[in-house]
Amino acid sequence: MKFSGNNVLVTGSSRGIGSEIAKTLAGFGLKVWINYRTGAKEADAVKETIEEAGGKAAVIGFDVSDEQAFIDAIKTIIDSDGELSYLVNNAGITKDKLALRMKTDDFMSVINANLTSCFIGCRESMKVMRKKKFGAVVNISSIIGETGNAGQTNYAASKGGVIAMTKSFAIEAATSGIRYNSVTPGFIATEMTTILSDDIKDSINAKIPMKRMGKAKEVAEATAFLLSDYSSYITGETLKVNGGMNMA
Ligand code: NAD
Repeated sequence: MKFSGNNVLVTGSSRGIGSEIAKTLAGFGLKVWINYRTGAKEADAVKETIEEAGGKAAVIGFDVSDEQAFIDAIKTIIDSDGELSYLVNNAGITKDKLALRMKTDDFMSVINANLTSCFIGCRESMKVMRKKKFGAVVNISSIIGETGNAGQTNYAASKGGVIAMTKSFAIEAATSGIRYNSVTPGFIATEMTTILSDDIKDSINAKIPMKRMGKAKEVAEATAFLLSDYSSYITGETLKVNGGMNMA
């Protein structure tokens, strides 16, 4: 894949899908800024892996739901590299509970971590990317943002919001040379899904036409495509990476 830009910030990239995205983009020659909130050691390990493979990486710890911290992080990147070409808003959390038992705080904390943080990242990156009239952003949403799910009203609302918000940013930024797209993973084998019981995993796999969970690497490659020059006429799109679930 071909990339005209030089560097990328991947939020929540000390583990899971984010770390695969970081390693994949470094493999295509980008300098990757690895963000973590609590996993400093894991973030360092991702950096080491990238550097051992001949790639470029830096670690930047901050909480994406802290607006000032996100703004300061982008400033640090600009001060260091003189630009930010790409952003992947990947950091996300779940706090599952049936709606009748869900406290408003549990709802809002997931909205803040998954949607508000993504808004801040999209807005702040637009401010710097428009100066060069070049940039691409990928927001990691979820199949749950398309379908809804019992026990996940907060998560579904946040991820559905990400899809709609991405389209709005895409429209506003199109003439500034910045593309905004979403990826909606189905069920991907990471720490977020290892907590599910084997029974639940079996029943999920039965509903997937490809009869297996996805790999983080498969989400990473779709993300790389949407950042790359190979998708230069694609913006406001939602790319499903789900083994054929929810084909409508
Ligand atoms: P994960 O829990 O393994 O990793 C999430 C990462 O985000 C962690 O490194 C975590 O520390 C970080 N993070 C969370 N809140 C943060 C914050 N406030 N500031 C900075 N970092 C923060 O999860 P994952 O499975 O790798 O998921 C990555 C993304 O993909 C999430 O947005 C998730 O909603 C989405 N997703 C995952 C699946 C799946 O099946 N695993 C499916 C659809 C969508």
